[in-house]
Amino acid sequence: MVFDKYILITGGAGFIGSHLVRSFVSNYRNYFIINLDKLTYASNIGVIQDLEKKPNYSFIQGDICDVKLINSLFEKFPINAIIHLAAESHVDNSIKNPLTFINTNILGTVNLLEATRKYWVKKSKNNLFYNISTDEVYGSLGKKGFFTEKSSYSPNSPYSASKASADHFVRAYGKTYNLNFIISNCSNNYGPHQHQEKLIPMTIKNIKEKKQIPIYGKGDSVRDWIFVLDHINAIDIIFHNGQHGETYNIGANNELENINLVEEICELIDKKTGTSNSKDLISFVTDRPGHDMRYAIDSNKIMSQLNWKPKYSMQKGLELTIDWYLQNL
Ligand code: NAD
Repeated sequence: MVFDKYILITGGAGFIGSHLVRSFVSNYRNYFIINLDKLTYASNIGVIQDLEKKPNYSFIQGDICDVKLINSLFEKFPINAIIHLAAESHVDNSIKNPLTFINTNILGTVNLLEATRKYWVKKSKNNLFYNISTDEVYGSLGKKGFFTEKSSYSPNSPYSASKASADHFVRAYGKTYNLNFIISNCSNNYGPHQHQEKLIPMTIKNIKEKKQIPIYGKGDSVRDWIFVLDHINAIDIIFHNGQHGETYNIGANNELENINLVEEICELIDKKTGTSNSKDLISFVTDRPGHDMRYAIDSNKIMSQLNWKPKYSMQKGLELTIDWYLQNL
């Protein structure tokens, strides 16, 4: 069978990637999806194992730093597009071990870009390198203002610096080698399938196990949350209708101080499970070095130009997330 598009999705066994792969394999039977993932500690291939039976899907375990492997994929499949998510994604790990982040997030991205240079020799308007990035590249905001697509890059952690660098390389390949590219910078995702090291799953797990919930500093850092399926919908719209060479910010306008978010989760779980006083488990710990104070995304561009808007309220998204973790932890 010949497919309309052959899309290489990297990091498709991770939190966001697993939702994206499921959505594309199910919604676009005319696309063939190649999921390349190293299966690091952060991955969860089990949640998409059922896709192995689908005729438009192939999973390859491998490293984006492995040039030979990437070349072999381009030789085996007529890949037209890459949606690049594979990354080391945990800021705390990047503080302990920055080199792993430089390797995967920067060198791995450049390896993929090099493959497009080698294999996309005949420029086609259908070829696209879509880089999935983060709002953390913009650094930290004070109490007011929002990140727009015009905000300057000012990363503060090795993680955000590596993602910023990857974005710069994607743009540079676009300008220098005429590569069609799009970059989107999204705010903090939450939802099912996220690794338990991240704030929301860690909070749910610790409440369930009656362990302390560590909160950095005074808990007053502000994050702008988006339910993962709203991000997936934005990626789909950008992939199909986004303008090549453009950047899109994605956020759902859900700014919350970490402490307020954790307290809300405590209340929701107490209500669901009949427990009480989960808030007593909260324990303040020494702040993360270089901790960004506030992230807040201005999504006007994607909303007005591509007609995207988030569908999940924070309340609804948290309910779905908590229900999934209570069943799957
Ligand atoms: P994740 O850590 O859950 O998943 C990352 C996946 O990449 C894992 O399955 C892992 O096995 C794979 N991977 C890591 N190194 C690899 C390598 N060298 N070769 C091949 N695969 C490798 O991360 P996530 O939260 O799903 O994030 C996905 C992407 O979205 C990342 O690029 C991240 O920077 C970006 N992003 C995440 C968020 C968020 O809030 N989670 C927000 C904005 C952007």
